[in-house]
Amino acid sequence: MTKALVTGAGGFIGHHLVSYLKRQGYWVRGADLKLPEYEPTAADDFVQLDLRRWENCLRATEGMDEVYALGADMGGMGFISANHAQILHNNSLINIHTLEAARTNGVKRYLYSSSACVYPEYRQSETDVTPLKEEDAYPAQPQDAYGWEKLISERLCMHYQEDYGFETRIVRFHNIFGPLGSWQGGREKAPAALCRKIATAKLSGRHEIEIWGDGQQTRSFCYIDDCVTGIYKLMRSDYRKPLNLGQDRMVTIDELADMIAAIAGIEITKKHVPGPQGVRGRNSDNTRLREVLHWVPEISLEEGLRRTYVWIEEQVRRSGW
Ligand code: NAD
Repeated sequence: MTKALVTGAGGFIGHHLVSYLKRQGYWVRGADLKLPEYEPTAADDFVQLDLRRWENCLRATEGMDEVYALGADMGGMGFISANHAQILHNNSLINIHTLEAARTNGVKRYLYSSSACVYPEYRQSETDVTPLKEEDAYPAQPQDAYGWEKLISERLCMHYQEDYGFETRIVRFHNIFGPLGSWQGGREKAPAALCRKIATAKLSGRHEIEIWGDGQQTRSFCYIDDCVTGIYKLMRSDYRKPLNLGQDRMVTIDELADMIAAIAGIEITKKHVPGPQGVRGRNSDNTRLREVLHWVPEISLEEGLRRTYVWIEEQVRRSGW
């Protein structure tokens, strides 16, 4: 039985990945500062550890065949744009120590979760942006410390491969969303925040919601089930360079809000307020993804939003809004 460590297993993608790997027949260890918030983990073993610390990384990776490195201090644009020092410090320590501990313990394969935030700001200054190819990451100019750290950790993985023959895989996620992720408290991302605002509007009968910026900023959004399928396929492939994993259908934030309101069955008034928006436009070029994995994400934005909205409306209802 293959033994896999998932770091960040108390978080959104890590928790879903643990369940997915269990369904594939793996023995799974989860590691995180915290347990999953919304349902019990499916992991065989779950260790609550601070992975900024070397000795904890050694303990977590011991006896593992594969490591899926998803642990990170992260959140939506509000969090990322306001915590540069903390993010760069914490995530550098987590990734440097997890990678070296995995190598020290003889792990066979290592997957690093990078982000579309590595792409340079100068390629994302228009709403009608050209989809980003993997090689567009250079010359480097990520917008935030979060993206700079991801880029450095990508390079570290590539150097471990070149210098030590350590098998690393690097995936660049583009806005992953779905149930069982942060939906309130400041770390939630746009789809979850909009679902919460629209569910609250529906339940309260006050149909005005706030949107950061003018609502014309564009993104693509990828449903969580496609994300874990893509992670699994990439780990099994022999592709060793960074690879996009996301949808290539771009929508504005206003359009996203309208789609969610339609799912909720209400009309909303959008009030545009000042707030962090990130880059002006971003989309994934999936040419390489299709070539390498012979697969691209399959779940439509409408279907993913429907599943997510149903879950978040239930959370809002339970919280007493
Ligand atoms: P998340 O915040 O839900 O999960 C990250 C987990 O890491 C959290 O549970 C957190 O407690 C844990 N963590 C933080 N500091 C830790 C520490 N010192 N020791 C141990 N655990 C620690 O985020 P997510 O959305 O599941 O993201 C998973 C990975 O994917 C991250 O590396 C993130 O940067 C990357 N990513 C996510 C997205 C997205 O759209 N969700 C996009 C691009 C990249």
